[in-house]
Amino acid sequence: MTFKYFRDYENFTYLVDKPMPCSFCSAVGRWPYYYGEDDQDKPICPDCLNAGKLIDLDVWMNDVVNQSEVIKVLGEQEGHAVINQIVYMTPKLPTWQDLEWPFQGNDFCVFEKIASKVDFEDKEEFINSFSQEDQDISDLDFIWDGLPEHPIRNIKEGQYSACVYLFTSGNKKRCLWDAD
Ligand SMILES: [Zn+2]
Repeated sequence: MTFKYFRDYENFTYLVDKPMPCSFCSAVGRWPYYYGEDDQDKPICPDCLNAGKLIDLDVWMNDVVNQSEVIKVLGEQEGHAVINQIVYMTPKLPTWQDLEWPFQGNDFCVFEKIASKVDFEDKEEFINSFSQEDQDISDLDFIWDGLPEHPIRNIKEGQYSACVYLFTSGNKKRCLWDAD
């Protein structure tokens, strides 16, 4: 199973600790999970997630706050379709805070991984991968200095108090960051 907007869910979204049956189809595996009505983590297999099983429950995986911008660019029908795909049908970003999924050009960005220094050619590329607003209000020099020097291969290796989330939009990098 591959997701259009999430490159590597097996390594970069939260999964249940041990193999469990999917809440919808009962297939057993180490699946992503969502928060059920009883506040329990409920496993959902990638196929059921991608099939939109969470839409009927109105359970969100991700946030799209600025929906009007997406709809302005893509129109009502396509705009709502891709918003639904991010909100209900894409694994959850492994962020500390609820971050808004970045939209760039005429599509949502693809979440690649939790980033470290080796994911960038240099500091300039790192800084330019943030929105102008982030460049204005965040101390990106400080965040760059705190980035690990080694590749981050999975979510466990990326549990730093300040985390950089690498997305791509075509061949361009786009980043968000947050802290615990
Ligand atoms: Zn399933």
